[in-house]
Amino acid sequence: MFKGILIQKDEAGYRASLTDLDESQLPEGDVTIRVSHSTLNFKDALAITGKGPVVRRFPMVPGVDLVGTVEHSGHSEYTVGDTVILNGWGVGEKHWGGLAQKARVNGDWLVPLRGRFTPEQAMSIGTAGYTAMLCVLALERNGVKPDDGEILVTGAAGGVGSVATAVLTKLGYSVVAVSGRPEEAAYIKSMGAIEILDRDQFSSPGKPLGAERWAGAIDVVGSHTLANVCATTRYRGFVAACGLAGGMDFPATVAPFILRGVTLVGIDSVMCPRLGRLEAWRRLSRDLDVAKLAAISNEVGLSEVMPLAQKMLNGEVRGRIVVDVNR
Ligand code: NDP
Repeated sequence: MFKGILIQKDEAGYRASLTDLDESQLPEGDVTIRVSHSTLNFKDALAITGKGPVVRRFPMVPGVDLVGTVEHSGHSEYTVGDTVILNGWGVGEKHWGGLAQKARVNGDWLVPLRGRFTPEQAMSIGTAGYTAMLCVLALERNGVKPDDGEILVTGAAGGVGSVATAVLTKLGYSVVAVSGRPEEAAYIKSMGAIEILDRDQFSSPGKPLGAERWAGAIDVVGSHTLANVCATTRYRGFVAACGLAGGMDFPATVAPFILRGVTLVGIDSVMCPRLGRLEAWRRLSRDLDVAKLAAISNEVGLSEVMPLAQKMLNGEVRGRIVVDVNR
């Protein structure tokens, strides 16, 4: 038996509980992992609370991230004792995820850890940090350079925002942060932001075009915020959109795209091909100041995850939540 969070939906309703699970209940897969740590991501919070249609099959173990040790492998690239990371690929949505002491998955979904980070550090980064790196790689691919001008990062006190700010700063970019939490100003500055703007400046309907300021932007909020970010991005600037913390809609005009040649690129981490993942994790090991991870993450035990899920949806969680599944 092992412990895990289980989401059920039946005549008794939608509910998540910490429970004992049996190995025979694990889904099919060629690699069985003894999980050491998982995380609580925005998507997991939606799944646990039932506030968003994340879970596609019931019962489901949530948790889009995991790190652990291979206990059994039928996959040519992994042997017993290897430390591996998994982010996305539908775990915690369609396939049992990381918020349990064991997982059985498709070995093709794994990335070897190989000493770049400790398991705890890998989960401090997790899906949010790996997505932040995918956004930075997209900025680079589109030719945005540190001396081109300021980069705007929204949701700066959250998981994606924190890692994006830290990585961009280490790479020499000037980051302007957007946050709704003045009490986190010192934290956001410690990630490297040179200025913090109030979230309210971006969250209401704005003009089709505003004063040009950003050479690039990383947005986790969506809705009016994303529209206003695009409207204030400089000529031929670049916006990476990866989130919907403020809403799934995009009430914008085409003006920034057809009059200023702004490029809006969508970032998806879940189905990102393996080579892109390996590149993102390689770059994280080079371009993320590991000393900042201690400030970014808070560690909790499995039993603390459920009450935290609602707090995360309320925007009350700072940085990243790492879950020690054996605590
Ligand atoms: P967090 O909850 O850690 O951070 C989100 C941040 O957004 C909050 O900290 C807050 O920052 C800000 N925020 C929250 N609510 C609102 C609101 N109503 N209006 C404006 N800002 C708000 O989540 P993550 O950083 O982990 O994820 C951010 C988004 O990115 C989520 O929507 C998530 O689903 C998405 N995501 C997408 C991925 C992909 O593959 N495309 C992968 C990972 C995440 P502050 O307090 O500083 O304002």
